Amino acid sequence: MLVLEDFFINFCILCTGIFLIHHYFLRDHLSNKLIRCKSLRGICHGIFGVVLMHFGIQLNDGVLIDLRSIPMMLAAFVGGWVPTFTATAIIIVFRLVLYPITFSSLNNIYVLGFSAIIFTLICNSRMSAKRKWVLMPLSFIIILASTFYIVIPEFETAIIIFVQYASAIAFASFGAYIIKSYLSRNDENYEKVKLASKKDHLTGLNNVRSFDQAIGSFFSSAKAQEIDLSLLVIDIDHFKQINDTYGHPAGDKVIKKVAQLLLLSCRSVDFVSRNGGEEFSIIMPDCDTDSCQVIAERIRKAVDKSTSRISEVELQVSVSIGYATAVQDNIVSVADLIDKADQGLYKAKQRGRNRVVAGL
Ligand code: GH3
Ligand code: MG
Ligand code: MG
Repeated sequence: MLVLEDFFINFCILCTGIFLIHHYFLRDHLSNKLIRCKSLRGICHGIFGVVLMHFGIQLNDGVLIDLRSIPMMLAAFVGGWVPTFTATAIIIVFRLVLYPITFSSLNNIYVLGFSAIIFTLICNSRMSAKRKWVLMPLSFIIILASTFYIVIPEFETAIIIFVQYASAIAFASFGAYIIKSYLSRNDENYEKVKLASKKDHLTGLNNVRSFDQAIGSFFSSAKAQEIDLSLLVIDIDHFKQINDTYGHPAGDKVIKKVAQLLLLSCRSVDFVSRNGGEEFSIIMPDCDTDSCQVIAERIRKAVDKSTSRISEVELQVSVSIGYATAVQDNIVSVADLIDKADQGLYKAKQRGRNRVVAGL
């Protein structure tokens, strides 16, 4: 029973360590290939291995085993050569410094070193995560078995200890795999939700939430850098008629087409959003009134010339555009800039649509 208790404690440490390292050292650096980040991953997995080595699992016949090889597998899994060898070196150094050097400990250096090579080879291959997590513990158990008879000459004792050690490694690595897969799935879902919360699902443009956040920061940096900031508000003319005549899916197709044209007609630094329904906006940093009007006119013409094919019919739409520019000291707030551009749009609609008007 003591063995199970020890295993349970070590397994809890393992779970905690995986969560903590993932949260503090991996999530933000996941795509970071810098050697400094890789070494940092190695160091934390090494310390993790030392903690597991310190706690250990006392077997019934007084032999001490531990799960230090699992952080090495984790290091190989998250980063390849650098983290694996950093972690392995830390574990070996601590083993030699903190505990007496015996024949068994020297044999252990060989087992860990050889395993580190095998783990990195497995993890650098293109096989699936599941297969990697089967092969890593399996190879460790085989390496362990190959030296076991040297450390414990008595066959029967060696078999009993080996079976317990191999079972502990198998269970612990399975647990590590389950937790790692859960954490990666969580990360992927989090990134998807984060992206979805910023984008409009129909057009792929920024949504109104992103617009609200972006306009404030564009405004502040324009003020700080003393550069102009222009805003276009764009609305499809008589859009309701398209929905009423050809149906909602046809309307959606037109919205997507206009969104594409907007992206093609402006600069890469411009912030294009769908602010709702058939209304769009473009935030244009470092763009004065004249350039803003030229771009707005270009957009208007591009939409006017284009058509969307809807069941044998070539549908043609136009847009009305209002614009305003925040020149230093002229427009004092974000609300003022948006209000002026809206006034321009209102006038464009009043004056007959399909035109560009400045909000004053
Ligand atoms: P105006 O020229 O004055 O802008 O007239 P309009 O018909 O374009 O404007 P109105 O505000 O009367 O109608 C906008 C319509 O857009 C009403 C709404 O049903 C439709 N709409 C809003 N969101 C969507 C959408 O995601 N897809 C489609 N197909 N239609 C939408
Ligand atoms: Mg409209
Ligand atoms: Mg509208």
